[in-house]
Amino acid sequence: MTYVIMSPCVGIKDGACVDVCPVDCIHEGETMFYIDPVECIACGICESICPVDAIRPLEEVPDDEKSYIAINAAFFAKK
Ligand code: SF4
Ligand code: SF4
Repeated sequence: MTYVIMSPCVGIKDGACVDVCPVDCIHEGETMFYIDPVECIACGICESICPVDAIRPLEEVPDDEKSYIAINAAFFAKK
């Protein structure tokens, strides 16, 4: 299981989630931050502190944000 960062992060990018992630699996991109779906241990801490409610567990991502599941994964596939 993984957590996913969705559209509300775009343009906000305050990095608060990065500071609390115990496994350092949240990485900065040009427009938003992304969660590495392989490294994430699904602890949920990032979801609880995001000021714009941009983070959800994979299975709770709403339909209109589902494209962000692939967008997060693709960021790490490129590396
Ligand atoms: S759920 Fe936990 S491990 Fe996964 S990205 Fe958030 S803080 Fe990091
Ligand atoms: S805490 Fe929320 S808004 Fe801030 S970088 Fe993380 S996902 Fe984006």
